[in-house]
Amino acid sequence: MLKRYYIATYGCQMNVYDSEVLAGHLESMGYHAASSEDEADVLIINTCAVRKKAEEKVFSRLGTIRELKKSRPQMIVALWGCMAQRETVVQRIKRRFKFVDLVSGPNALERFPALLEKAATAKETVFDLDHAGGKESLPIKRAEGFKAWIPISHGCNNYCSYCVVPYVRGPEISRLPENIINEVDELANCGFKEITLLGQNVNSYGKDLKQKIDFADLLLHLDHRLINRSDNPPRIRFMTSHPKDLSEKSVRVIAEGRNICEHIHLPIQSGSDELLKKMNRGYTRDYYLGLVDMIREAIPGSSITTDLIVGFPGENEEDFALTIDLMAKVRFDAAFIFAYSPRQGTRAAGMPGQVAAKIKKKRIVQLNELQNRIGLEKNQGLVGSIQEVLVEGQSKTNKNMFTGRTRTNKIVHFPSAADCLGEFIDIRIEEARGWNLIGAIDRRN
Ligand code: SF4
Repeated sequence: MLKRYYIATYGCQMNVYDSEVLAGHLESMGYHAASSEDEADVLIINTCAVRKKAEEKVFSRLGTIRELKKSRPQMIVALWGCMAQRETVVQRIKRRFKFVDLVSGPNALERFPALLEKAATAKETVFDLDHAGGKESLPIKRAEGFKAWIPISHGCNNYCSYCVVPYVRGPEISRLPENIINEVDELANCGFKEITLLGQNVNSYGKDLKQKIDFADLLLHLDHRLINRSDNPPRIRFMTSHPKDLSEKSVRVIAEGRNICEHIHLPIQSGSDELLKKMNRGYTRDYYLGLVDMIREAIPGSSITTDLIVGFPGENEEDFALTIDLMAKVRFDAAFIFAYSPRQGTRAAGMPGQVAAKIKKKRIVQLNELQNRIGLEKNQGLVGSIQEVLVEGQSKTNKNMFTGRTRTNKIVHFPSAADCLGEFIDIRIEEARGWNLIGAIDRRN
């Protein structure tokens, strides 16, 4: 009988990649993808622990799955990923969700087939919370499409005081360059049009390797390699860049690279030095402003996006005014603004001066208003320009409307009578909005 699996993925792109590896394992074990969890023999919930809300969503989903498991007791339920690595979660599973068959952290990918076998016969929940684990040469079943993601490192050493990632994903481990290169080659051979290099901090790539290689060397090598092998090489993107480790050498490589997208996601988190110190970010606002100047001088027309946290413990009106000021000075292309959410086990969760929810809300609104105005003004500057767009979506309500992204990661909507999904198309920008652009086809490449 056909055995089926279903994987529900929460959180970041790294989790999407891990789910593709889990799917690869399952397919090589003879399983096929199910269209819903109702028909799955193996159901995996791949979780995110960065925000409390994401965790609560998973617990409420487990409540529904409990009923499903009652009607299909032979189904194996696995809780995978970052949440599973948290002690409070483990305790809650042991107390209230005993029906879960397997609980495993993100670093057990290599051990998944053995864990699944064990969970199938075990009388109690099987736990694997070991940080150690290889992640090379694993089977992978990539989602269909033309965009792919490749981790260049796993884990993080930075211990920002608000973040659980170093605790749940373990210390930073760079992948060997030859394995990354092989994977990129494979993707290019399969016709992928855009490859994103992933890491919690791509800029510290290579620091733990014996061979002398850094992120700039890796980027340069991949760019040359892809250009030399094809007339239509895939674009290269990367994320996330930590400001303290972004080097001038990397910026130069991005500036000179032919197929490296001119977009840097550079989370600032706060405009106040006092708070940056409490966050353990390792840079000051002046250092960050200097980086922005360096990027804009080296790569004119590049886009810089950011993440900001409002309501970090101790954030007063003065600190917040400094964040507003920084946003006005940098003029980000886009900013993702989050209210600080305390995560148990992090240093910030125990800091004095927790900010009231209504103040956080007010500050988010204020920052969003400013960013929307800046985003619109920046996008208006693109009206009349021609932008190369990789087409990645078709409107569900109008099959003649498509959506793509510029090299600078701006979203562009445009009409096309012909199906152009996965193509690079030059679009003439005709109208600007705060978070996207509207245009018309100028030339198909
Ligand atoms: S750099 Fe900081 S915010 Fe990013 S994953 Fe590491 S600890 Fe978390």
